[in-house]
Amino acid sequence: MGYKYLADCHSHSNCSFDAEDPMQAMCQKAQELGLAYYTITDHCECDQYDGSAAFGGRKYRDTVVRSYAEYEENQKRFPGLRFLKGIELGQPVQNLEAAEDALRGRKYDFVIGSLHQIRSEEDFYWLNPESFSPETLDDIFHRYFAEIMEMIEWGKFDSLAHITYPLRYICRPGERPSFAKYQDELDAVLRGLIEKDIAIEFNTSRILRKNAPVLPDREIFTRYKALGGRRITLGADAHNTESIASGIKEGLDLLRDIGFTEYTVYIDRSPVQVPIEYIPEEGKE
Ligand SMILES: [Zn+2]
Ligand SMILES: [Zn+2]
Repeated sequence: MGYKYLADCHSHSNCSFDAEDPMQAMCQKAQELGLAYYTITDHCECDQYDGSAAFGGRKYRDTVVRSYAEYEENQKRFPGLRFLKGIELGQPVQNLEAAEDALRGRKYDFVIGSLHQIRSEEDFYWLNPESFSPETLDDIFHRYFAEIMEMIEWGKFDSLAHITYPLRYICRPGERPSFAKYQDELDAVLRGLIEKDIAIEFNTSRILRKNAPVLPDREIFTRYKALGGRRITLGADAHNTESIASGIKEGLDLLRDIGFTEYTVYIDRSPVQVPIEYIPEEGKE
């Protein structure tokens, strides 16, 4: 039971500060899993390109150089794997020069645009929803969507990563995470992406994780389809070998259920539509 073509297009090697395993081990695992496409997208937090004391002085300018050199080595090492070179640009509009410098002169296959922290706030990961009034929380979400709109306006990336990122962390106890209160802003983002032919990512990292809130993926992708969207990239956002492709099958199940027949992989910065081809277990539907 499964899918003929499984791809994981969002992954981190230990060139990323928060990931555990070397690129070679990540590629080895992707090959063993028989992935049709595998993309590593090491972090480039653009607001910290030349280091920032607030973030321990880490320089993403150096991460980008190291990671890219390792891509080339591992492409030679794994000729049988469709291993693609990606980058996750965090907060690109907070330092456009850095974002453009990271891309300059490098032949990436896939560029992800992410927003982990809105201007002058900490990463959503560190925010404590209990410490905010409902008004402050609303303000944070309005600023989140506004900054994503700025990113779309800039447009030099292929897929918008994990739109539900803030909902992982900013969710009041007992409440189901949802963007329902911000439907107009969500619609504007989805329309903007479709208009610019930028994909949206289905980040599957939380699907199989125990005790993780159920994110409103079904609502978002159902709405995206209704608006005419057809470019969805899939990524498990693995930070170690065990998490590669985690939740990808379940993600495809959900997309198939909504009525999608294809998903998207980027090669050489161009979209390739891949059929969602389900292979039923013998004797079952
Ligand atoms: Zn991310
Ligand atoms: Zn990531």
